[in-house]
Amino acid sequence: MENNFDLGIIGGGPAGYSAAIRAAQKGLSVVLFEKEEIGGTCLNKGCIPTKTILHCSDFYKNLKKAEKFGIEIQEKSYDYKKILSRKNEITQKLQNSLTKLVQSYGVQIVNVQAKIIDTNSIESGGKIYQCKNIILATGSKPMQIKGLETDGKFILNSDEVLNLEKLPENVLIVGSGAIGTEWARIFSALDKNVTLTELAETLLPNADIDVSKRLDRLFKKSKIKFFTGTKVDKISNKTVTLSNGEILNPDMILCAVGREPVIPDGISFEKDGKFVKINDNFQTNYSNIFAIGDLNGKMMLAHSAVHQAISVVDFIVEDKPVHFDKLAVPSVIYGNPEIAWVGKTEKMLANTEYEVSIFPVSALGKAFADDEIDGFVKVLSQNDKVVGAHIVCPEASSLIHQFSLMIDNNLKTEDILKTVFAHPSYSEAVFESILGLDSLNLSLPCK
Ligand SMILES: Cc1cc2nc3c(=O)[nH]c(=O)nc-3n(C[C@H](O)[C@H](O)[C@H](O)COP(=O)(O)OP(=O)(O)OC[C@H]3O[C@@H](n4cnc5c(N)ncnc54)[C@H](O)[C@@H]3O)c2cc1C
Repeated sequence: MENNFDLGIIGGGPAGYSAAIRAAQKGLSVVLFEKEEIGGTCLNKGCIPTKTILHCSDFYKNLKKAEKFGIEIQEKSYDYKKILSRKNEITQKLQNSLTKLVQSYGVQIVNVQAKIIDTNSIESGGKIYQCKNIILATGSKPMQIKGLETDGKFILNSDEVLNLEKLPENVLIVGSGAIGTEWARIFSALDKNVTLTELAETLLPNADIDVSKRLDRLFKKSKIKFFTGTKVDKISNKTVTLSNGEILNPDMILCAVGREPVIPDGISFEKDGKFVKINDNFQTNYSNIFAIGDLNGKMMLAHSAVHQAISVVDFIVEDKPVHFDKLAVPSVIYGNPEIAWVGKTEKMLANTEYEVSIFPVSALGKAFADDEIDGFVKVLSQNDKVVGAHIVCPEASSLIHQFSLMIDNNLKTEDILKTVFAHPSYSEAVFESILGLDSLNLSLPCK
């Protein structure tokens, strides 16, 4: 009897632990299986460790311009081993508190690999757990790319780079998505020579064109060398030949492209490409088995996983159809300045009628006070409603949610303008971007 549960969840990352907490809050008995560390990729190999290192590198970068702020510091240096230990301490602390948090809701955590025997049975550590419903939340892992196979020494993936004890002087990064861009910013802030290659014609290929162009400029300003529309052709004795003929001799390559789903052993699932196929309510080809988070490939982000977790549990408990709009999920690239977007890009709106307003943060007093004038807030609207927003600016990771709320709640721009935005703040750029849709900016000269 003790091994009978309303819900069995495989995987203790953001998708799995959020589903476990939500289900327990709604009165379900829950067992959560995690084969490694609770918190998954996000806490142990992704969001938190990278942002912890990034914060240290930004801090160091800011120290280098201390004089500009009237602050005198004689010696500016860093000890990467200490940066690494801080990252490990923070991860460990968060792991401990997450375990306690999940247990506080009465969720049983089983720290062993799990396998699905049949649609109601999970096997783990030699025991069988009977579950009315099952949620797969087993996430994803770095993929081996042909010609760029990682060896943990010269060619590293995003897991391996996190544990480097000594940084290379010259690094080649393959891919300018979130992971590649954030690591380019880390290495560069820590005084290393960075070259980046991107197969697409623009940096951050999923971003709006103005964001890609601004990153182009920011990379040049930071002396990050990059090649777009280029791939690695050949690697021989640590000499890299790119498809544009460029020859490089990096000390290390970070392969920041390609992740694949982790699918548990046992019964097989219908696939959508490599990922587990799901319907609108995130059910797999078995109606009581759901697949949420990275392994369904819908949007490989932690907050997307959490949203899916909450919605799927509400579907199981209350039969409430899942609401998941990929376009309303914000994307953020961390570093200095932050980059964030939500909704449609200009490319997606091509051949339709839409308004554009771009407000430069250099028109804000706050940006001058902080010496952060290189950025903008761009908004796209249709029928007096915001359909996309693209930000390059300090605090973009927080500002973007003002636009998420507008898009998700279908707000009219005249209603948005009823809100008072604090001065001085970067939120004034959000306000001004909306004003700009009707050419009514208060902080820009008359055109
Ligand atoms: C370098 C990097 C940086 C990132 N930065 C961000 C960011 O800033 N913001 C953001 O939103 N996203 C970021 N992501 C993405 C984010 O980490 C993932 O989208 C998120 O972790 C997905 O959550 P998940 O629960 O689906 O899977 P995961 O977090 O991967 O968790 C899955 C868990 O399942 C466990 N598991 C797998 N198989 C089994 C089994 N058979 N039995 C038991 N346990 C099993 C695994 O051990 C793992 O702990 C980043 C990713 C990387 C790699």
